[in-house]
Amino acid sequence: MKADNVLESEIVSLLEEGELCPVCRSMEKSVDGWIVGAFSNLLHNESARIELKRNGLCKAHLKRIVGVAKERTEVGSLAVSIMFKEILAAQVTWLDRKEVGFLSRKKPKSGSCVLCSVASNTEKIYLSAFAKFLQGDEVQRSYENSRSVFCVNHARYIIKNMRNLYGKWLVEIQRNKYEELAEEIENYISKHDYRNTTLVGQERHAWLKASKLIGERDERNIW
Ligand SMILES: [Zn+2]
Ligand SMILES: [Zn+2]
Repeated sequence: MKADNVLESEIVSLLEEGELCPVCRSMEKSVDGWIVGAFSNLLHNESARIELKRNGLCKAHLKRIVGVAKERTEVGSLAVSIMFKEILAAQVTWLDRKEVGFLSRKKPKSGSCVLCSVASNTEKIYLSAFAKFLQGDEVQRSYENSRSVFCVNHARYIIKNMRNLYGKWLVEIQRNKYEELAEEIENYISKHDYRNTTLVGQERHAWLKASKLIGERDERNIW
């Protein structure tokens, strides 16, 4: 799929259907979709098996495969067991080969973990679609009124790729949305005071929301 194939209506429903970052959300969806597609029909999906074995998987996506296997019966632990056994067997040959499997603090390069590539393709597609459609009135209103909030890194990318005027608009909206969240966190913190007698409500989730929005000052994240 290409960015040009994303419709404005799809962008609007992405904004309306959930909370937190709609770009992160679509990346997670495409990763889960790939996992379900690969593992629910593993025996007949030779190309997925090859891709899973080629470069192995990053820690985050291994964890996600395990999560999907537990959550979704059509995946299940059997298919994942078969695949993990094949991956292990393939990686035995890595042990005495110097050119693969080095320890590095760097993030995986694109093309290593197959699910990182799936996620990064989706990311590119939706980032350019958002940068394009957020320059229109209707999509802007829909973002302002939605519970969606771009994470810091995705907001930075979109701001950089919009015309200046629209970039300024988005900076302002992001600032408001992050301030609202900071207030919720503040609320949660203040309820920990021993003098507090009111119950903790929705604000108990605020710090978890923040964990999904905070970025990292790394130029590689801004492509
Ligand atoms: Zn994001
Ligand atoms: Zn990965």
